Amino acid sequence: MCTGRIDLEFILRAFSNGSDGVFIGGCHLGECNYVTAGNYAALSMVLLCRKLLEHIGVNPERLRLEWCSSGEGIRFAHFMNDFSKKVKELGPLGQGELIDENKLRSKLEEVTKLVPYIKIVKRDKLEKRLENAEEYNDYFTSEEIEELFREVISYYIDPEKCQACMICARRCPVEAIISAKNQIHVIDQEKCIKCGTCFEACPPKFSAVTKISGEPVPPPIPEEERTIVKNSKEK
Ligand code: SF4
Ligand code: SF4
Repeated sequence: MCTGRIDLEFILRAFSNGSDGVFIGGCHLGECNYVTAGNYAALSMVLLCRKLLEHIGVNPERLRLEWCSSGEGIRFAHFMNDFSKKVKELGPLGQGELIDENKLRSKLEEVTKLVPYIKIVKRDKLEKRLENAEEYNDYFTSEEIEELFREVISYYIDPEKCQACMICARRCPVEAIISAKNQIHVIDQEKCIKCGTCFEACPPKFSAVTKISGEPVPPPIPEEERTIVKNSKEK
């Protein structure tokens, strides 16, 4: 109902499901029916998504956002006809870009997996509302998106420091931490959405969670070596 509800993931899911184009129509800027001004949020989100699409080789013109009220039928019809013509010109998704179908699928999956991370890293810009629509031109740049992917942060639990207090596992929003009593905790990198909660939650006296950027994450400690043997005083 409201463009403010549009999430990066919805758009990427549509492309992953084979849509050749995605059109988002919203209320004119400054004419939000609520106090949320969700259309400004949609605008930032779409501009970011267009740059993400460009980064993975998809023509950003496959994603269009237009402002159109419910009383502007002719304007709406014009946008739809024009967009449909554009998408036909671009051809089927992937084919028009000369990207192999499987490669495109894995690129879309990779970006979709990073959506929570991207939203955290770009939160300030996504939340900021510019008054002048013109200021949104070049709001996100190709350089910053390249940097974003180059410096993706991963979280790793140092087995030498982990004391199995279980705090991180209880706070992890996606149950990505393999946790058991008296067992060194391990982050399942496949499930981790890089929210950083474990990094913040690990007590400073342990500081077992570390951030890794631009380097591979060390392999997890083998299961048979995870038991923490505490001395009688610690017990
Ligand atoms: S970074 Fe977030 S998702 Fe990943 S393990 Fe830590 S708390 Fe869980
Ligand atoms: S909060 Fe820190 S010390 Fe506690 S289980 Fe997690 S990583 Fe280990």
